[in-house]
Amino acid sequence: MNAAPTQSDPAATSPVFSASVRRVKVLLPLPLAGAYDYRLPDDMTARPGAFVHVPLANREMVGVVWDPPDGAEAGGGVPDEKLKAVEAILPVPPLPEENRRLIEWISAYTLAPPGAVLRMAMSAPQALGPPKTRTAYALSDEPPPLRMTAARQRVVEFLRDGPALPAADLARETGVTPGVIRGLADAGVLVPVQIREDLEPPEPDAHRPGPSLSAAQAEAADDLRRKASEGGFSATLIDGVTGSGKTEVYFEAIAAALAAGRQVLVLLPEIALSAQWLERFADRFGAPPAEWHSDLTAAQRRSTWRLVAEGRIKVVVGARSALHLPYPELGLIVVDEEHDQSYKQEDGVIYHARDMAVVRAHLGRFPIVLASATPSLETVANCEAGRYARIDLPERHGGADLPTIEMVDLRRDPPARQAWIAPPLRAALERCLAAGEQALLFLNRRGYAPLTLCRACGHRLQCPNCNAWLVEHRFSKRLECHHCGHWIPAPKDCPECGAEDQLAPCGPGVERLAEEAALLFPQARLEIATSDTLMGPLAAAAFVDRMASGETNLVIGTQIVAKGYHFPMLTLVGVIDADLGLAGGDLRAAERTFQLLSQVAGRAGRAGRKGRVLLQTANPDARVLQAIAAGDRDGFLAVEADQRAAGGWPPFGRLAAIIVSGPEERPVEEVAKALARTAPAAEGLRVLGPAPPPLALLRGRYRRRLLLKADRTISVQKALRDWLSGLKSPSQVRVYVDVDPYSFM
Ligand code: ADP
Ligand code: ZN
Repeated sequence: MNAAPTQSDPAATSPVFSASVRRVKVLLPLPLAGAYDYRLPDDMTARPGAFVHVPLANREMVGVVWDPPDGAEAGGGVPDEKLKAVEAILPVPPLPEENRRLIEWISAYTLAPPGAVLRMAMSAPQALGPPKTRTAYALSDEPPPLRMTAARQRVVEFLRDGPALPAADLARETGVTPGVIRGLADAGVLVPVQIREDLEPPEPDAHRPGPSLSAAQAEAADDLRRKASEGGFSATLIDGVTGSGKTEVYFEAIAAALAAGRQVLVLLPEIALSAQWLERFADRFGAPPAEWHSDLTAAQRRSTWRLVAEGRIKVVVGARSALHLPYPELGLIVVDEEHDQSYKQEDGVIYHARDMAVVRAHLGRFPIVLASATPSLETVANCEAGRYARIDLPERHGGADLPTIEMVDLRRDPPARQAWIAPPLRAALERCLAAGEQALLFLNRRGYAPLTLCRACGHRLQCPNCNAWLVEHRFSKRLECHHCGHWIPAPKDCPECGAEDQLAPCGPGVERLAEEAALLFPQARLEIATSDTLMGPLAAAAFVDRMASGETNLVIGTQIVAKGYHFPMLTLVGVIDADLGLAGGDLRAAERTFQLLSQVAGRAGRAGRKGRVLLQTANPDARVLQAIAAGDRDGFLAVEADQRAAGGWPPFGRLAAIIVSGPEERPVEEVAKALARTAPAAEGLRVLGPAPPPLALLRGRYRRRLLLKADRTISVQKALRDWLSGLKSPSQVRVYVDVDPYSFM
């Protein structure tokens, strides 16, 4: 190697770093390795966190002035004279310190580039511009003399101690015609001023009284109120059966945080469907919270992001992305249904919002509350290790009994051919509907049939882009892939052998189940509830109304109806296939089945009327179903924990997945094998694979997985960084890491 300095060595081409050039590091919302250096013009001051306009290649971008915590001084890299200058500092509050540290934390933990994490905090680009304004009228400081009519006088009086208002509002408030306002403005008595367009949001009132709490609820609420008003990091699990008042209890913690002048974040799974929750919040606090989720309009995003940054929005309820808003005064996070798998983001930056919310609370030194009736094994283990506190709410509020849970053994009581409602469930449905009550049939499968088969040649209709069957949707007359969105019009003839009318649906989806139920119960007012039918908050709210009014009395739904809803007249839940979630058999299959079925069961009998749950199964001896029927959650968790501990699986060991994918199978296979050859070898660490996953082809990309399994004492991040840094792979092959994987597809 040539020992002389080369062109690419910056110190060689620029022997003098002028001390007079002010450098700043700017992190850009791009998947780059780190922050870039820029020159800060003399007339600018940029605090860490400031949003700035900078040039990059031939475009202009918004980034954030960064302050690496390791104290690395700006400097080195690009020589002074090649530095590009910061163009402008944007008129928004800087990204708070805690957000910046959280971005670094998530990046270090997930191995995602910091700029990719930053992008999640900049999800409302329009919020970074100057706030939108409109013209209002105020009184001139030196009004010219003008003849005063009574109407003119009223306007002048109003503005003497009232706020500047747009012309139309001013006319309305003072009861004059718009012409009067125009006349005053033309004469120079009124002067135009610019006011902010986004309205001051109504503030939730921390001091409104809540309901009177039961003894157990009051004790829990006292504990959380104290934590929320004193501040300081703590993590607390509220562990209570559905309907025990977990929400009422954490509302008390919210009230205390608000009274202490802090902002509050509540994370909910399926925020778009939480109409009932939003209503309860507004009832309790006299004003709605701000919402943050993917269904907002651009204008809503802009205004919410900005008002949060200014500390003027006090309570945000949202999906996981709400964690990245720029709260200057965050003082409490609540993660409801903390066990819910939708908190794990599976694309882009792969992270677990519940876990990162705990990090956020730790960075901000304030409490976090996790609530669940079926807490995750991870959280239970954290409680047992003393890292999290735990509050138990063992009883349903108002003495409502938990529903009885019975199994229907499909081997003994099978349904008719091509039918899925077994006789005991049918009888229970008859009784329920005759009594004027409501029932829910639960089947976690959208569409009409999960598989279409040709009776003539045996051909199965498969997605061309994925290792998956096409799912028939009869309402839309399509066959759809649930993984990539590919669809075809439902064919009449077999695409393989051409046989006519030989395509047969196999197995049930909710649409097919609804067909059966409509035949059995022609009088029932039946409705299908899935992500296809309840798109967005409005549709969900309308569904809630139809349930509350009794307009619907039989719901056939997927997991979308399992969560959170409280329908007093719903007394019967029938689970069509309790074995469905156990089929794949991944690490958490039993745990997830327990959680999902408990949650569905919890919809039954929530208000005085006794609830009943029937689980249809071909494996009534399965441990998880036995535990649900016996209401033995703790016993189930204990056995589950023992098994995981014995195998060294999470949460008792660490796990990271490496997924290799590409448009051609050979190079993917080769990169995967190369990874296996260079796998780290150390005590307490193993690499499994590569193996083709169940979705070995997904969205047109071939896939292989490796799994890194390590003792809890080992840093998988370091092992992964060392391992992957040496990897060379063709540009079309992508390698990404999923730390703490939840999906094994
Ligand atoms: P969870 O969150 O544990 O499912 P909720 O807080 O939703 O329980 O309570 C279930 C139902 O009981 C709700 O309708 C709630 O308003 C009501 N409830 C709970 N506690 C009280 C209380 N102390 N006083 C009045 N109503 C209560
Ligand atoms: Zn597909």
